[in-house]
Amino acid sequence: MKIKKFITKELSRIDDDHFSESIKTPLKKDAFKIPDIEKVKLIEQKVRDILDILGMDLNDDSLAGTPKRVAKMFINELFSGLNPTNKPNSSTFINSYKYGEMLVEKNITVNSTCEHHLLPIVGIAHVAYISNGKVVGLSKINRIVDYYSKRPQVQERLTLQIVQELQNILNTKDVACVLDAKHLCVNIRGIRDAQSSTVTSEFGGKFREKEIKKEFLDYIKLEANF
Ligand SMILES: [Zn+2]
Repeated sequence: MKIKKFITKELSRIDDDHFSESIKTPLKKDAFKIPDIEKVKLIEQKVRDILDILGMDLNDDSLAGTPKRVAKMFINELFSGLNPTNKPNSSTFINSYKYGEMLVEKNITVNSTCEHHLLPIVGIAHVAYISNGKVVGLSKINRIVDYYSKRPQVQERLTLQIVQELQNILNTKDVACVLDAKHLCVNIRGIRDAQSSTVTSEFGGKFREKEIKKEFLDYIKLEANF
């Protein structure tokens, strides 16, 4: 609840023109000067250093491949969404069948990483939009969620980035996202509350209207046994 309140307050202070700047992932200007293949080598050495400082014997068979494995995982998997060249293409289709109601993509897997502790954020996203003449392929919504998840993240920013990307692609403000996720930095360390999860939401355009918002939230609650 606290987080929801925080977001609402933040957004009310930021007018639409400044919206995009405020939700950008903080990246250095020269973030992509070094090619990915070079980054893997550099990170591999740093991971080796960390393990060495911890006192691990890197000559042990089990550990020998770990630095390279971790470096490749950072660049090619966990943080691949930092690099704009990995962004899913944003092709849309004309809404030729004139479907005018909201479309809800439920239970989208979210695997992200908390930028404060570099520990996993694991959860689900529910995304909805009302077409303004354009539609996207369903899996495109999953891919957008995945792309922005694959970064060091905070959940609030992730929620907003997903909504803004779809607003841009679909040329409409009528996009909403609810994200429910467990943060391992809360679950396994610090307060060590294994049960708690965090809900964030962003309702754009018509989704701010009480009835439309309720309809979306009701669909999320629908249980289906497939
Ligand atoms: Zn954290």
